[in-house]
Amino acid sequence: MNEIIKVQAYQVSCCGKIFKTERGAKIHMKLCCSNPANKACKTCKYIINGCKYRRGWLWEENEDDTSYKMHCENWELNNNKSLIKKLN
Ligand SMILES: [Zn+2]
Repeated sequence: MNEIIKVQAYQVSCCGKIFKTERGAKIHMKLCCSNPANKACKTCKYIINGCKYRRGWLWEENEDDTSYKMHCENWELNNNKSLIKKLN
């Protein structure tokens, strides 16, 4: 069997990941640190000058997405798109 089958896929706007099902994409968007709706460190403007919630925390040394604080009460949108892109 060497057939290639064309399939439909769903891409999320938050980080560009692709999912086989729309449901999978929707679940991802609720958990993704790159989705501003989740108010995570990755899309927060305080990531540049430091955050009082994550004092001493350096994003460069932290590659584990699950360690980002989500739904932070101090979160404010970072309008520096180039930085957000770099973090992805
Ligand atoms: Zn995402």
